[in-house]
Amino acid sequence: MSNQVQGILKDDSGRRIVTAAYCCNGHDLIVDENPLIDGLTTIHLRAQSATKGVVDLYLSPIQGDGRVKGGEGIPMDELLDIRCPVCGASFEVVAPCYCRHGMFVAIYLKPNCQYREAIVVCNSWGCKHSFVKLESRIILSTP
Ligand SMILES: [Zn+2]
Ligand SMILES: [Zn+2]
Repeated sequence: MSNQVQGILKDDSGRRIVTAAYCCNGHDLIVDENPLIDGLTTIHLRAQSATKGVVDLYLSPIQGDGRVKGGEGIPMDELLDIRCPVCGASFEVVAPCYCRHGMFVAIYLKPNCQYREAIVVCNSWGCKHSFVKLESRIILSTP
């Protein structure tokens, strides 16, 4: 394994795994209590859904993997208000998603809120770009 970007681990099969994620106030979103997906600790977010109320979501930490635990019953394409589960802080909206419906929000890989080092998540429920997409400048900076 080689660690190319802090917070991102590339495993032996070439998958990029998010190992650290923080809100802008430095709260750790990847903690041991979170459920596992493929044996990997998930990323905990809390969403406000217009139909389901406050929902805890646990995202697969594998880049490009759309799996998520939680959120059952949220209608497809509903736009969620995604927040830190600890302090309730919103994540920065950084760009429209390719789905042309949702927006990407940035989740930081370091606790100091640096946009250059972030993953982005589309806030449209069910969007195939929803989860764990590396922000493009990170991809460009990866050797
Ligand atoms: Zn927080
Ligand atoms: Zn989207």
